[in-house]
Amino acid sequence: MTSNEPDITPGKAVDMPRPSEATDRGLQSVLDRAAEGGRVTPEEALGLYRFAPLHALGQAADAIRRRRYAGTEHIATYIIERNINYTNVCVTACRFCAFYAAPKDTAKGWTRDLDDILRRCAETVELGGTQIMFQGGHHPDYGVEYYEEHFAAIKKAFPQLVIHSLGASEVEHMARISKVSVEEAIQRIHAAGLDSFAGAGAELLPARPRKAIAPLKESGERWLEIMEVAHGLGVESTSTMLMGTGETNAERIEHLRMIRDVQDRSHGFRAFIPYTYQPENNHLKGQTQATVFEYLRMLAIARIFLDNVPHIQGSWLTVGKEAGQLALHYGADDLGSVMLEENVVSSAGAKHRSNRMELLQLIRSADRVPAQRATTYEHLVVHDDPANDPVDDHVVSHLSSTALDGPDAARSHPELKVIGAS
Ligand code: SF4
Repeated sequence: MTSNEPDITPGKAVDMPRPSEATDRGLQSVLDRAAEGGRVTPEEALGLYRFAPLHALGQAADAIRRRRYAGTEHIATYIIERNINYTNVCVTACRFCAFYAAPKDTAKGWTRDLDDILRRCAETVELGGTQIMFQGGHHPDYGVEYYEEHFAAIKKAFPQLVIHSLGASEVEHMARISKVSVEEAIQRIHAAGLDSFAGAGAELLPARPRKAIAPLKESGERWLEIMEVAHGLGVESTSTMLMGTGETNAERIEHLRMIRDVQDRSHGFRAFIPYTYQPENNHLKGQTQATVFEYLRMLAIARIFLDNVPHIQGSWLTVGKEAGQLALHYGADDLGSVMLEENVVSSAGAKHRSNRMELLQLIRSADRVPAQRATTYEHLVVHDDPANDPVDDHVVSHLSSTALDGPDAARSHPELKVIGAS
């Protein structure tokens, strides 16, 4: 490798030899075109991601966000939701995952019964939550029937809750267990109550990094094919990306290209949500990680490149609250959720905690007006007057946790009859 060639060593994700002035001008002209609504090629996106100054990326991404949301560009949204983990038993053994237990590991594995799940739904409603994310391992016994039964029971008891859950990997798994097509699996769980897919399991879609971190998962092409089938059946989704497990810059951009190509046909991805790998308690042992700097560059590139995906979601859970605020200036129009319960990335080391009042404050001090949104991104409540802000301090993240050891485990709020660790 000569000194002018980019370093594509896995894990060295930002590799920037000093660009020439001519390159600078070329990058700026691509950013100007994007800010005016023009489409950026994958090659241009890679050039921007590698070489464009961070502030220039942020400026262009923010211009695109403001143009897209003209009239409401002063607003940043959040949602109140709860992840409900139904089991950690999983046959897929992803190398970045700290949550799962192999089926034979009976000391670590657990499942929740339906009554427990319904009590968690009841707490979500009690706290003003509108969405649940049903999330768990690929249990060797859970086919389509399991999800039909649970979604139907949740919808019967709590018709107001939106079930925004699962992804192509779970569909592939449950269809295999039940020996039905993925089309039939999607139709049946949708009929039972699933409203939309959360886009879980996308990880990294290109073949090399996907095989390296999730060798037993379906291919990235298959993941997208199943999402496209779902979109065709009227079940929309979000899309995600796991950053920081040793993928190259080119592979990050390829992930975006794969999503954009499908979205050109299906129009079913509502949002793109990048998040960062957490290093504890998993096979990868934290040998690589994405920095906040890389995360912000990715958010901006996503807003610039994914001209057909409506929303870009920033996160405070994996990158921290200050980075979450910055995300709102790098193309994000949404700051995710007050996660009433979260165990998956928490078990891999994500230690950030928050609550609704703090999220409102974070959004406001990032110079945006906070608005609680629905799963479909409609504004439910615009908090345009701080004097009218909710003062209920019960709406906090991580009300309960099965994943954390130590003093944070099973924090209890007896006044809410919140369930502790099982
Ligand atoms: S990420 Fe999901 S599929 Fe992979 S091991 Fe963890 S629980 Fe299983």
